Amino acid sequence: MQIIHPLAEMTEWSRKVIASGKSIALVPTMGYFHEGHLQLMRLAGRLADRVVVSLFVNSLQFGPAEDLSRYPRNLPRDARMAEDEGVEILFAPSDEEMYPPDFNAGVRVGGITDTLCGRQRPTHFEGVTTVVAKLFNIIKPHYAVFGQKDFQQLGVIRKMVRDLNWDIEIVAHPIVREDDGLAMSSRNTYLTGPDRIRALCLYNAIRHARARFAAGVTDADLVRSEIRDIISANQGVTIDYVSFVNKDTLADEDVIGADTVLALAVRVGTTRLIDNSFMGNYSEASN
Ligand code: AMP
Repeated sequence: MQIIHPLAEMTEWSRKVIASGKSIALVPTMGYFHEGHLQLMRLAGRLADRVVVSLFVNSLQFGPAEDLSRYPRNLPRDARMAEDEGVEILFAPSDEEMYPPDFNAGVRVGGITDTLCGRQRPTHFEGVTTVVAKLFNIIKPHYAVFGQKDFQQLGVIRKMVRDLNWDIEIVAHPIVREDDGLAMSSRNTYLTGPDRIRALCLYNAIRHARARFAAGVTDADLVRSEIRDIISANQGVTIDYVSFVNKDTLADEDVIGADTVLALAVRVGTTRLIDNSFMGNYSEASN
């Protein structure tokens, strides 16, 4: 596996691959890999001739009071893990080259970013779409793989690609979970002792909602208040949102259907965790 830092070198590699008639799948990440990232890499390998994994902790998507400085980083560890998956290129650009002092552009997707995480993190999605747009232009992939773990992010990227006519196929990978149901996340490294156990309230809430829907309960208000009780029973856990939303528009839904998505965000101590699930059609990788 080759680790590429300079943007020009990455673009040159892509130019040659495309000229030889081969396809490229990109997996954008912020690193500190776990099994979820590795499964995205495997999916990318099934989609295209060549796989590029980008690793960039994108300062633009962190708010001023968020965890940018303590976000876990370990390039040698990540490089080993990606290489074991048969990844050909690990693209790890520098902050300086991605955002030079005179950098002054942004890609904004409206509407779908106004709800859920966008409400609590007003600059977050513009940071995401801007960096993903840059990665698309630098690497020129035919496919880009994103996890359903970040359900709103996936919708925002799909909307950006559609609205801006990018000829890139966005492919979703189901949520990968720990054996006990906690959705894998680089931020899970922040969870120690009782907080790790409390974090299970997210999956318990999902299981509860799915069981209620399977039993014929479709009143979103009712199930939402039950979920709030389940989560609030955990000391030190606060709710950012509990929402039943339309899978495409992310607008709130009053009546739960099989396609309705339960979207959750909580703080366990100081760690912000998100999770989500369709209420029917369960298709998660590890379940
Ligand atoms: P991150 O490094 O956290 O920015 O994530 C990089 C990509 O991996 C994003 O598309 C995430 O949605 C995806 N991802 C992260 N955790 C999981 C997971 N537990 N299951 C599936 N995809 C995930």
